Amino acid sequence: MSVVGFDVGNLSCFTAVARQGGIETVANEYSDRNTPCVVSLTERERAIGSAAKSQMISNFRNTIFGFKRFLGRSFDDPLVQSEKQWLPYTLVAAENNRVGVKVQYCGEEKIFSVEQVTSMLFTKLKSIAESNLGKPVQDCVISVPLYYTDAERRALLNSACVSGLNVLRLFNDSTAVALAYGIYKQDLPPPEEKPRNVVFVDMGHSALQTAAVAFNKGKLKVLATAFDNTLGGQHFDRRILDHFAAEFKIKYKIDVKSNKRAGIRLLSECEKLKKQMSANSSDLRIAIECLMEDKDVHGKMKREQFEELSADLLARVEPTLQRVLAESGLKRDEIYSVEIVGGSTRIPAVKAMIQKVFGREPSTTLNVDEAVSRGCALQCAMLSPTFKVRDFSVQDSCPYSVTLSWKAPMEDATDTEIFSVHHAAPFSKMLTFYRKEPFELDARYTNPQAIGYPDTRIGTFKVNNVVPTAEGESSKIKVKVRMNIHGVFTIKQASLVEKVQVQVEQPPAEKTEEGQVNGQEPMETETPEQKSDATEPEADSQAQMETDEVQTATDQEKPQETTPPSPQEPEAKKNETEEKKTKSKVKLVDLPIVEDLFMQYSVDQLNLMMEKENELIMNDKREKEKADARNSVEEYVYDMRDKLCDKFSEFVSEEESETFRAVLESTENWLYEDGENETKSVYGKKLEELKAMGDPIVRRAVEHSSRPAAFNKLGSSLMHVFKFLQLWNEKDEKYDHISEEDVGKVGKLHQDISDWHNVNLQKQSQLAKHQDPVVTTGDIMTKVKELTKVCDPIMNKKKPVPKEDPPPAPEEKKAEGEAKPDEAAADTGEQQPDDQQQESSETEQAKQDMDLD
Ligand code: ATP
Ligand code: MG
Repeated sequence: MSVVGFDVGNLSCFTAVARQGGIETVANEYSDRNTPCVVSLTERERAIGSAAKSQMISNFRNTIFGFKRFLGRSFDDPLVQSEKQWLPYTLVAAENNRVGVKVQYCGEEKIFSVEQVTSMLFTKLKSIAESNLGKPVQDCVISVPLYYTDAERRALLNSACVSGLNVLRLFNDSTAVALAYGIYKQDLPPPEEKPRNVVFVDMGHSALQTAAVAFNKGKLKVLATAFDNTLGGQHFDRRILDHFAAEFKIKYKIDVKSNKRAGIRLLSECEKLKKQMSANSSDLRIAIECLMEDKDVHGKMKREQFEELSADLLARVEPTLQRVLAESGLKRDEIYSVEIVGGSTRIPAVKAMIQKVFGREPSTTLNVDEAVSRGCALQCAMLSPTFKVRDFSVQDSCPYSVTLSWKAPMEDATDTEIFSVHHAAPFSKMLTFYRKEPFELDARYTNPQAIGYPDTRIGTFKVNNVVPTAEGESSKIKVKVRMNIHGVFTIKQASLVEKVQVQVEQPPAEKTEEGQVNGQEPMETETPEQKSDATEPEADSQAQMETDEVQTATDQEKPQETTPPSPQEPEAKKNETEEKKTKSKVKLVDLPIVEDLFMQYSVDQLNLMMEKENELIMNDKREKEKADARNSVEEYVYDMRDKLCDKFSEFVSEEESETFRAVLESTENWLYEDGENETKSVYGKKLEELKAMGDPIVRRAVEHSSRPAAFNKLGSSLMHVFKFLQLWNEKDEKYDHISEEDVGKVGKLHQDISDWHNVNLQKQSQLAKHQDPVVTTGDIMTKVKELTKVCDPIMNKKKPVPKEDPPPAPEEKKAEGEAKPDEAAADTGEQQPDDQQQESSETEQAKQDMDLD
């Protein structure tokens, strides 16, 4: 199981993993922890992250960025429409009026939905985590802006699922930051004491998010959140761009906004300038060569001017901060610290505004860029069984209030706010309805202004298979609604409560079944999902309490149909004490729920998306293999060409060198022309052809350097045998036990190999270096082995010890050993046992000495 956290930002993404050593933000293939949120489609493949960012200008029409805000939205959405003007790529209405991107990919015009583009990004992030962890990654926690609606959250979940990720939780950006802050704090107040209140401010590229969080030992509770989802770093960049675009119109007579490539170059320079202005208050220069119409442009700006230009944007920071303060109910002096994260909190005027609102300097306890991903990885570790993490309960809150409406038979629709804004999440509530037939529940956001979008739909849930009771009355239906762990509204379960008469045969003492039956009602039963939410113990008790409120409302709707549950219980108990054989039991029958969720992909559509993503992954793989094969040919061409003039120059004739160089050159040309886009096998064949010409040259050079040592070795082996033959002929007593026949064998082989050695050594010395050698190093070493194999056993044969001789005294043995001629014994390896014997006898002596002492 993997433990991974992804911070998917509008500009950049960060990946954090949990390892034995703790949480770590990991780097991508460019050794960069920041992976740009960019996808670029090309003629042959797709580039994602850092590789895609480098194509933002050269391939601007097919390079997609800033798409996080379009997820789960329709093409007509006002935000989508207003962003269109800033994009160099083309947004179109895709299937079901979703936001699509029109690009050229693999020579064809294609439309990808932003959900598909997001899947591409996830495929990359997944592979970054995998290459760092060295194993497949599925389980993860992904950050989302706290202002994401249900449709946006579901779209992100769908995109992650298409890339093969299993999202354990969608974690609100600021809650992730709060967890990363709180879990390491050892000095948080105990649960019974007043909490430590901390405000988190995250200003990124696209939005400003804040949360007021109460910390006690082992837990955090999000008290309130506030955001401005159209106020981030990019809005300041655009403001600077507007300024220079107007200036350049007058100064250079160019309209940067009419030229997408120029627009994107200028925007990028404006961002750089903005960052410089954060650190520097003097005049700063912007200069771009050949921006458009062959004109080089330049301009300057200083922080003061930037603050004037963006005064309205800077002013919008305050109301969001004031809102979180007001809605949290905290007074300024109840706030322990204000922690800032997100790149745009580096803007001095933003920092000053935070200081003004909260009356204190903002703190940077956390890593401004990596805190979100680290919080996500921590949450993933807490939800995964792989790691043991300190207990820490996380109670998040709903960013928007949710209203549920339903229609009673013959009556107007009724609605109730089922989750208020800042209500604890995740959270379940139980509702009771009385119905004779299937019915629909309609969920929507209460306040269109809050979500900034007129369409407040969440979804419609039809509860099916509802039938009247046996008496023809309305059945009691229990419906469990839930704000789930991802912050998505769901109707988890609907059950029909059926009363049945059963025969009971247990003795009175065991007749507690009614209670147990009641206990099985979902209201009181912890569902598996609730168990997994280690964060909501308080939620359950509140759910029950608030359920009653909702239930009362429902009961009032049809008072005559209400069957109050409480009177039943004493009656049942009475039945038990009287030991009656029949009693009424409550049975829960699960009812099917048919969901129609706003902006939701169908299962078939998701499967199709998955299929397409897998095709794209396969294509990337093929392209990578092809590129690797092509690179191998290219590398070989360059490498050989250099070496022919240098390292290998002596080992190749002029004629051969010329021919080979011509082939190398034509191969190089082929690589950039006809052979630019060939298959892996074509490149493989080409490399083989080149190697067929190059390998003999390489071999000659290698042989040349290794041959002398081999000839030396053979020479010394021959000399060793020759000395043996000489001593034997001189009747040396050392070898007088070796038979004539054996010596004959040694002599013959010595002669043959000596001849071979002399002939080849001479032939080789007459050859030029560029000619193929007469013998290889391998051939020479084979001769060495042959000689050793036959001669060594004969030469090293042990001299038999005469039986009648008494064993020599240790001193004599030692002296004898010392007198041995070393040449003969050196290679035998038989000296070792003698040595050991000697050693052990010495040890014996040492032991004895010790004993004596
Ligand atoms: P979001 O959270 O909105 O989805 P994100 O997480 O990708 O976006 P961050 O990485 O937190 O955003 O911040 C990026 C923004 O911060 C960019 O607009 C960048 O220009 C801005 N930024 C980074 N450094 C500085 C700086 N020194 N001064 C001003 N702005 C900066
Ligand atoms: Mg961010």
